[in-house]
Amino acid sequence: MNHSQLQQVPHRRFNPLTREWVMVSPHRTERPWQGRVEKDAPAAAVRYDPACYLCPGNERAGGARNPKYTSTFVFDNDFAALLPDAHHADLNEADLLVARSESGLCRVVCFSPRHDLAIPMMTPAKVRQVVNIWCEQSQQLETIPWVRHIQIFENRGVLMGASNPHPHCQIWANESLPNIPHRELSAFEAYSKGKKSCLLCDYLKLELNKKERVVCQNDGFAVVVPYWAVWPFETLLLSKRHSGAMEELSSDERSLLADILQKITVRYDNLFETPFPYSMGFHQRPSDGLPHAECHFHAHYYPPLLRSATVRKFMVGYEMLGSPQRDITPESAAGRLAGLSEIHYLQRSNST
Ligand SMILES: [Zn+2]
Ligand SMILES: [Zn+2]
Ligand SMILES: [Zn+2]
Repeated sequence: MNHSQLQQVPHRRFNPLTREWVMVSPHRTERPWQGRVEKDAPAAAVRYDPACYLCPGNERAGGARNPKYTSTFVFDNDFAALLPDAHHADLNEADLLVARSESGLCRVVCFSPRHDLAIPMMTPAKVRQVVNIWCEQSQQLETIPWVRHIQIFENRGVLMGASNPHPHCQIWANESLPNIPHRELSAFEAYSKGKKSCLLCDYLKLELNKKERVVCQNDGFAVVVPYWAVWPFETLLLSKRHSGAMEELSSDERSLLADILQKITVRYDNLFETPFPYSMGFHQRPSDGLPHAECHFHAHYYPPLLRSATVRKFMVGYEMLGSPQRDITPESAAGRLAGLSEIHYLQRSNST
């Protein structure tokens, strides 16, 4: 069987980063469905919300007051999931009750003073400021001796549990490697040992060659719907040059990163003409002082929407108990995203 025949039959695909399988059931998309794009009214565009705990000058729930910041703004989360001074503990009872202490820091980064401006709507220069602050924060957190992993992530939209619509992300820095980066690190190491090359450099080369899953690209980065995508419109953002961490990006590459973030998020918003919810985050090499030359800097976007602004995919039933499953193929998802305009739908309607 060849790859095009796969488009019609149920099959499994392998994710070489996590070494897990996903089930693909393309024949199910032939199920009858009265599809329509349900447009949400654009969120009331207030530049400043007096009740928002992230807007400049406002008081936060913990009692601290935000400065009247004018670009990006970083603060330690008032209700942090991790604390920097965990008391050391290492418990093990019969290899069955196992627990360890974990130190960490949780920060919040506001992208801009504007309550209503998310990445797809900001100017390129403002997105570049966000990239700069990520680089600065990574550099700074890496100097803390116990920090081994720095996770930058953004939850956008109530569907993904974002507690506040003010555009922001979080940075968690902690003592141990979390599950997924740990699995990916093993995969990078095994691949590099076996093939004497980089897993994601090789994968990117293959995707740029085949073109069928490429959504958008510039000189520094490419976004693909990975062959093994689980979420309907999941994407993988890859740096074209092999580098291990955001802080290794050149000045030009930082601008190109800002550019590609807008290229993909504008497409996402245009897909159902709605502020597109997602969880996204960057994966970098561990910050434990070792080189980890086999790691390749990348980002994952996991959006839950399936058919419209209101129809989402749930990971339930078989997916909780067996393995994830999808209906539309990664190739058709990539085709739809690639075909969308790079002009945001709100800016388009403003200009007409
Ligand atoms: Zn706000
Ligand atoms: Zn690489
Ligand atoms: Zn990853």
